[in-house]
Amino acid sequence: MREIILANQGEMALKGLNRATFESVLMKTMRRRLSTVGEFKVYRAQSTMYAEPVDGNQDMDAAFDRVSKIFGIATLSRAAVCEKDFEVIKQTAVTYLRDTLRNTKTFKVSAKRSDKSFPMNSMELGRELGAALLSAYPHLRVDVHNPQVNVMVEIRDYAAYVHGGKHPGAGGLPVSTSGKAALMLSGGIDSPVAGYMMAKRGLSLICVHFASPPYTSERARLKVMKLAKELTPWTGNLNVYVVPYTKPQEYIRDHAPADLFTVLMRRSMLRIANILCKQEDAKAIITGESLAQVASQTLMALACTDAAQDLPVLRPCIGMDKTEITHISHQIGTYETSIQPYEDCCTIFTPPHPKTKPTLAEIEAAEAAMPDLLQLEREAAQQTPLERVNL
Ligand code: ATP
Ligand code: MG
Repeated sequence: MREIILANQGEMALKGLNRATFESVLMKTMRRRLSTVGEFKVYRAQSTMYAEPVDGNQDMDAAFDRVSKIFGIATLSRAAVCEKDFEVIKQTAVTYLRDTLRNTKTFKVSAKRSDKSFPMNSMELGRELGAALLSAYPHLRVDVHNPQVNVMVEIRDYAAYVHGGKHPGAGGLPVSTSGKAALMLSGGIDSPVAGYMMAKRGLSLICVHFASPPYTSERARLKVMKLAKELTPWTGNLNVYVVPYTKPQEYIRDHAPADLFTVLMRRSMLRIANILCKQEDAKAIITGESLAQVASQTLMALACTDAAQDLPVLRPCIGMDKTEITHISHQIGTYETSIQPYEDCCTIFTPPHPKTKPTLAEIEAAEAAMPDLLQLEREAAQQTPLERVNL
C-alpha cells in the first residue's frame, strides 16, 4: 500500500500576499529536512503540502517525525493513497486502518470531496464508508461527537487519501520567514528553549557560544555542540560560532569592580555577538534570560545589558518560571543534555555579591577604566571559528 504525508499550514493562511512565499519556503524546508531520510517528492495543491516517497524504501516513521517538527505546519497526517473508486477506498480503509480500529471502541468517518467529479457527495461517502467499517469491525460503535478515532477520507485532484485523523504539527511560522538572529547558546536549560521559541516565530538561527579555556573544558564545548545538534530537527542545519573568550573575560576580572563583573561581562558578550551578527546579517540577539532568575537578570541589570549594543535582544523566556522552561526543554528533547554538569564561562569568576541594581553610569565608568576591552573583543570575534552542525 502506498503511503504519503499530508501537511496543512497554519497561521500562514492569515498572511495574505505573503502566503505564496511562505508556502514555497515551507516546501523547500520539507525537501531539505526529508533529504536525509530518503527520496521524497514534495508538492502542494489546494494549500496542502504532500510528501510522497518515491518508492517503498523510505522510513515513513522517521519522515513523519521530521515533518512534525517543521514550523509552519499546523496539522499533519499519514495517509494511504488509492484510486478514486469507492470499492478501492473501502478496501484500503479496512486494511490500512486495521491496527488502529482493532484497538478502538468508537469512531466516526469524515469525508471531504474537493474533486467534485467523484460520483458520491461527502455525506454519502462518509455514510457508506462508515457502514463498511462497521461490518468489517463489528465491535466498533459510531460516536459523531467524541470519537476515539476520526477516520478521514479525502477525494482530491490526484487521488483519494485515507487516514486515521490529523495530528498536531509544530505550529508557528516557517523558519527564515521572519529573518535571522543569533542565539546566545550556553550549556543550560534556558537558552536552547529560547532558540526553539524564536525559531518557531520564523527566525533562522545562528548560535554563538562563549568558551574560556582552560577555565571551561572541551567537554563543556562538546555539550553545547550536542545541544545545537538537538535543536536542528526544529531549526534545520546550524552555524555555531564558538568565541574564544578567555582574554576579554580575564581582562574584566582584573580591571573592574567585582560586584559589577557579571553585567560587564554580559555587555561584552553582547558586543561580540553584535559583531558576528553584522557579519551574518542577523538582525537580533536571542538569550534565555528570565526576569529576576539571577542577579544579572534584574530589570536594571537587563537595561544595562541592552544598552551595550544596537540590536534588539529577544528574551522569549522572560516571563516564564523555571518549571515552565524545563517543561518545554523536555518536550523539545534538550533537557537531558542541558543537565549534564559542565561549567559555563558565565559561572566562572562570579563575585559572591553581584550588584542587582547597577546603574548605566557606574557601568560606563567601569568600562572607561578598561581602555583595551573593545580591542580584545574585536580580536575574539575575529578569531572565532565557525562550526557547522547538521541535522
Ligand atoms: P541557561 O540555562 O540558558 O544557561 P541561565 O539561567 O543559566 O541560562 P545565565 O547563565 O545567566 O542564565 O545566562 C543567561 C543567558 O545568557 C543564557 O540563557 C544564554 O542565552 C546566555 N549565555 C550564558 N552563558 C553563555 C555562553 N557561555 N555562551 C553564550 N551565551 C551564554
Ligand atoms: Mg547558564
